[in-house]
Amino acid sequence: MPELPEVETVVRQLDALIAGRTINQARLLRAKLSPDCSSKRFSSLLQNSSITGITRRGKFILVDLSRGRTLLVHLRMSGRFMLLDEEAAEPKFTHAVFHLDDETKLVFQDQRHFGLMKIVTSGDLSNLKELSKLAPEPFSDEFSPDYLRFCLQRSRRSLKETLLDQTRVCGLGNIYASEAMFVARADPRMSADSLSAIKTKRLHSAIRDVLTETVELGKTIAIDRDNIGGNIYGNGSEQIWRVYGRQGEPCSKCGRPIRRIVQAGRSTFYCAYCQR
Ligand SMILES: [Zn+2]
Repeated sequence: MPELPEVETVVRQLDALIAGRTINQARLLRAKLSPDCSSKRFSSLLQNSSITGITRRGKFILVDLSRGRTLLVHLRMSGRFMLLDEEAAEPKFTHAVFHLDDETKLVFQDQRHFGLMKIVTSGDLSNLKELSKLAPEPFSDEFSPDYLRFCLQRSRRSLKETLLDQTRVCGLGNIYASEAMFVARADPRMSADSLSAIKTKRLHSAIRDVLTETVELGKTIAIDRDNIGGNIYGNGSEQIWRVYGRQGEPCSKCGRPIRRIVQAGRSTFYCAYCQR
């Protein structure tokens, strides 16, 4: 599942490819992708809209349109965009198609069927239930060490579970939560409210550092129109992760094996020696 840095890369590439274009016609091929709106209404709301820019809030992609509308997109497990020539065949699992004014079409493909789209009035974005409860963006001033401490001190769940709660910390998923806790040398199993002030400060920097690392990596990859924002890790896939997916491999700091545990149904990778 894409996390914040991967979504950021999709956003940047989409913006480079389609900002300024006009949607001549939009087709919704899977009704559940946009449950609030019929396919007929989906088409009529988007027809002849120009795309003014692509931004992001949390893991939501915001396609800003003319006439004061925004198309909200969540990729969830497997949603992805591809930009094809108008006459190209649409691949299996194509759930929405946006025909653009330059003989291309933007295709939304979603093998696992969890993706979400919503057409909203741009002025109402901050009140939208999907966005209104989201914690501050990790790169914003509002997300300060004090803010993080405030949040953690009010949670008795494990540190790992608390970091995944998007209403407290926005943008961390399973990968970067494990990575940030490793960098901060914080035990994922401990109760969030027992993390010391010093470790909280370290965790705050670690969260920004691990996210920045991948955001920057995303800037270096060439755009693949068939898989926009994909292939972020190139051929050395996942090699940048320190603990994630490395169960049994030696810890880069102490050489002891990385452990994998399951917390709230999801894997956590950590070094029991370095993180305590
Ligand atoms: Zn270690």
